[in-house]
Amino acid sequence: MNQASVRTFACPVHKTAFVDGLFCPSCNKAYPEANGIPVLINEANSVFLISDYLTKKAYGGASSYAGSLDNITGLRKIYRRAMRYLSESAPMKEFSINDAVEAVLSAKADAEILVIGAGDTSIRGNATYTDVAFGANVHCIADAHDLPFPERSFDACIAVAVLEHVAAPYRCVDEIMRVLRPGGYVYAETPFMQPVHMGAYDFTRFTYLGHRRLFRYFEEIHSGISGGPGTSAGQLIRYALTSVSDKPSIKKWLKLVGLVSTVPFRWLDKISDSNISAYDSASGFYFFGTLSQEPISDRQLLGYFRGG
Ligand SMILES: [Zn+2]
Repeated sequence: MNQASVRTFACPVHKTAFVDGLFCPSCNKAYPEANGIPVLINEANSVFLISDYLTKKAYGGASSYAGSLDNITGLRKIYRRAMRYLSESAPMKEFSINDAVEAVLSAKADAEILVIGAGDTSIRGNATYTDVAFGANVHCIADAHDLPFPERSFDACIAVAVLEHVAAPYRCVDEIMRVLRPGGYVYAETPFMQPVHMGAYDFTRFTYLGHRRLFRYFEEIHSGISGGPGTSAGQLIRYALTSVSDKPSIKKWLKLVGLVSTVPFRWLDKISDSNISAYDSASGFYFFGTLSQEPISDRQLLGYFRGG
C-alpha cells in the first residue's frame, strides 16, 4: 500500500476520524471499499451514490481523463492521436500546478498536500489524491462538497479544473479551508470562457474577480490567466462548428476540421496574455494563496479587478 493509505480518513458526513477501519460510530456503519479504494461520499450533498462505485456503474471520469489508446487500432488510433495532439493547449502558463507545489515544498519539505479531482495528476511530495472517479493515483473516492478528512489535516490543497464541476463551489472552498492547517496553501485553476465539458457534470464559470471572491479568505501569492483568449476563441469556434450536427459520425469530423482550423488561435495567446485586456476573455484563471484570518470584503474585491 502506498504512503497515504495510513493517512487518517474521516466520515464524510460527521467529519470525525474513523475509529476502526472505515467505521463511523455516529453513522453506525462502515463505509465500503471498491477495488481496495475507500468510497467516502456524503450522499445527501452529492450527485454520486456510493452504490454506483460498488456495482461498476460509477461515473466514468477516469477513462475520459486517461483516453486510453491501448485497445484501439488502425485509422481510429491515428484519428485519436491527432485529436489529442491538436487538443493540447499551448504551453504558455506563467505559473502552474508544479510551481505551486515547489513553493509549498520549499516552505515545508514534508508538507501534506491534498489533490482534489486528481484524475491522473501526479505531483512531487507527500500527496493524497481524491476524485469522484477511479484513477491511477486515487487514494479515496471523495466528493469535494464533503472532504473525508478531519479538520486541519493538510498544508496545501490543489483543485485544478474541479470547481466548475461541483454544484456548490463555495461549499467546496469552505471544505478546503476546514481541512487546511492555519496558513495552509490553496492552488486552483478554474475555467472562465470555456464551453460545457464532461456533459452533465459541469455547473459554473468564474470571472477573474468571481474566482478571487471564491478564495476571499486567502491572501494571494500569485494569480492570473491559465488559458488565454486565443484558447477561448479556438474552443468556441470548434464547439460552434460541431453544433451544426447532432450526429456523432458527422460531429467527429467537424471536430477535426475545427481543431485544425483553429491552430492559429494558439499564437494569439502568446501575444495577448501579457495584456491586461486578456482577462476579459481568458479561457481560465489560476489562484495561489494562503489561508488568512480575515476575508477580503466585497468592496475591497473591486480593487482587485483586472481587465481592459
Ligand atoms: Zn458518520
